[in-house]
Amino acid sequence: KPVTEMTEAEANDQAKKLRVILDKWSNEYYTQDNPEVEDHEYDDKYNDLLELEAAFPAIITNDSITQRVGGQVLEGFTKISHEIPMLSMGDVFSRDELVEFDNRIQKNVGHQVDYNVELKIDGLAISLVYEDGKFVQGSTRGDGNIGEDITKNLATIDSVPKTLSRPISLEVRGECYMPKEAFATLNQQQVAAGKDSFANPRNAAAGSLRQLDTKVTKARKLDTFIYTLVDPESVNVTTQHQAIQFMEELGFHTNPTQAVCASLDEVWDYIEKYEGQRDDLAYGIDGIVLKVNDLELERQLGHTVKVPRWEIAYKFPPEEEATVVRDIEWTV
Ligand code: NAD
Repeated sequence: KPVTEMTEAEANDQAKKLRVILDKWSNEYYTQDNPEVEDHEYDDKYNDLLELEAAFPAIITNDSITQRVGGQVLEGFTKISHEIPMLSMGDVFSRDELVEFDNRIQKNVGHQVDYNVELKIDGLAISLVYEDGKFVQGSTRGDGNIGEDITKNLATIDSVPKTLSRPISLEVRGECYMPKEAFATLNQQQVAAGKDSFANPRNAAAGSLRQLDTKVTKARKLDTFIYTLVDPESVNVTTQHQAIQFMEELGFHTNPTQAVCASLDEVWDYIEKYEGQRDDLAYGIDGIVLKVNDLELERQLGHTVKVPRWEIAYKFPPEEEATVVRDIEWTV
């Protein structure tokens, strides 16, 4: 039944059912690193729940998955509290929805803005803390406020610098991922050893990082792309584009494809370019991320309980569907 024809009681019943399913899938995905369903199936149900809650705000509960980051800390790991929460991200699936996002931003700030556009790397979020240029602490996002201490695991990854090019103290955030080749080799080894193979590189990376035995992590050939500078003001960095360049100079592994776009047409060109090159990249991506480039505007826009207002992910269609679309295009 369409949401527009529902009573509040019907919407509430439906929302409760969706939350049970989404909580189960979130637990399998974030906590067990072993999802039962594909991401687009999760996204469809998640968006159904968002639609119900938007139409009937009174049915929103504090523990609804739309109001919190999904992960939980695994037993055996020390807990790390994130002074500045590690949030999730809103997502859109069409050009029209991107236009809506852009309109919202323009309305809020009163003028057109530049976006820094980046690939959305299919891994898991990590935080790295440095004191006087030395790597001292690394953690997962967890539930956004409390993550797992995985300092020793992250220290086994070559691209995580142990000493920065300058003796400064800062926190950066980014993505830990498993390159496609390492993923294929790992799954061959798992099968040869009679073990279960991993569903996708994201879950393989998460499972490899959240290991009490750091030797396992070291053997898994993980890599990183760092994209968030937590306190840019302290180092006089004023745009997201500059932040990534600054972190590159400090010795972090950053993704080389970031681009500043002055209009949605430019953003769309970027999307089409990388959607076309997706299969040729050495790592998985599941979309692109638009971020307001001016960090002062980002600060002004702020965030909801779950997502920043200054960024949005455009998610690519699931790969099977993308193939079908391409096949149709070839035949006409
Ligand atoms: P998300 O993964 O969609 O987006 C936020 C994350 O994007 C950030 O935390 C960061 O780790 C990552 N990211 C990658 N590249 C980035 C970049 N350049 N800049 C900024 N961030 C970047 O959000 P989420 O809350 O972590 O997870 C929700 C998604 O997880 C859902 O959309 C769904 O696809 C998937 N999920 C799947 C299942 C399942 O059962 N298959 C269950 C739960 C969630």
